[in-house]
Amino acid sequence: MSMLFVFYLFLLLDVPKSCIAEKDYEFFMLAQQWPKGYCNRVGVPCKSRPNKFTIHGLWPQGRNGQLITNGNDSNHLAYDDIKPVENQLSLNWPSLIGKDFDFWYSEWKKHGTCSEKEFSKLEYFKLALHNYAQNDLMGILKRANIVPNKKQLYNISSVVAAVHQHTQHQPRLVCYLDTQLNVSALYEIGICYGEDGKSYKNCLDPHGTCRGTELIYPK
Ligand code: 5GP
Repeated sequence: MSMLFVFYLFLLLDVPKSCIAEKDYEFFMLAQQWPKGYCNRVGVPCKSRPNKFTIHGLWPQGRNGQLITNGNDSNHLAYDDIKPVENQLSLNWPSLIGKDFDFWYSEWKKHGTCSEKEFSKLEYFKLALHNYAQNDLMGILKRANIVPNKKQLYNISSVVAAVHQHTQHQPRLVCYLDTQLNVSALYEIGICYGEDGKSYKNCLDPHGTCRGTELIYPK
């Protein structure tokens, strides 16, 4: 196999690019997970299932929405860095499967360090909490009569439209396949922001991993 072929193969695979801690991100995505969906999907017993969307992460994204992650093994998160917002993080950014701090630690290491030049650790976590507070997804969907239900099918476009109604921009949905119903099931919604982390921006792929035209919003 020639080296050129291997190189093209690498380009074709959607491998997350590593970021260097300089400004090589184009925008941010705030990913909020729907606990009922997430826990059904992973098949791991969740330690809690809050009845609201919770934060999964705030991710600097590369050009074309390419996920960038950090291989840099320095600038680790410590408890003291986020002490002022620890209570808010526990409420709104809990780990559904493990220790909260471990989740924040890994999200900072993998994603937050990609924008560390612009946002310090505390600023980064405050930004995520601020954006989360502005987008109560459960309420946003409820206003469009989209509520959790075991079997009800909702048009994927109507879920996208409900979020668009609130932000005036396209979100990105994430689904898994409910194998019993053979239909997409919602477990995450991403909302995108510009480089400043504050102004809304369209996400690139509104239907994301949701296949077909309808989904369930698991209860
Ligand atoms: P990411 O999806 O940001 O690339 O990685 C998330 C990491 O955090 C995974 O290793 C996952 O196991 C861990 N984790 C711990 N708690 C949670 C949780 O509540 N939700 C998600 N999505 N991942 C979690």
